[in-house]
Amino acid sequence: MYAKKKKSQKRRHIPQRMCIGCHEVGPKQKLIRIVNGPGGVQIDPTGRSPGRGAYLHSHPECWEAALRRGALAQALRVEMTPELRELLMTQMNDLKNQKNY
Ligand SMILES: [Zn+2]
Repeated sequence: MYAKKKKSQKRRHIPQRMCIGCHEVGPKQKLIRIVNGPGGVQIDPTGRSPGRGAYLHSHPECWEAALRRGALAQALRVEMTPELRELLMTQMNDLKNQKNY
């Protein structure tokens, strides 16, 4: 009889994502989502924009590692041009200032 209870004991699921810079896994809320969506590659503060996404910590080291190794381009399936790289670094800095990470 008591075996029936098992199903109701499910824990609330916290989504986990991996940072493509340092490969650490952590709660989704702590990572920044970059999306390759209809409007091109951009940072997605809502985490819900349609498109192919990649996750990164807010640390510049993670961004640099992901950019250097081509991990970001690979994850988003884009060609990493110097312009795009510049844009992403700028957006990251803006985000950092806004959100006070
Ligand atoms: Zn990281």
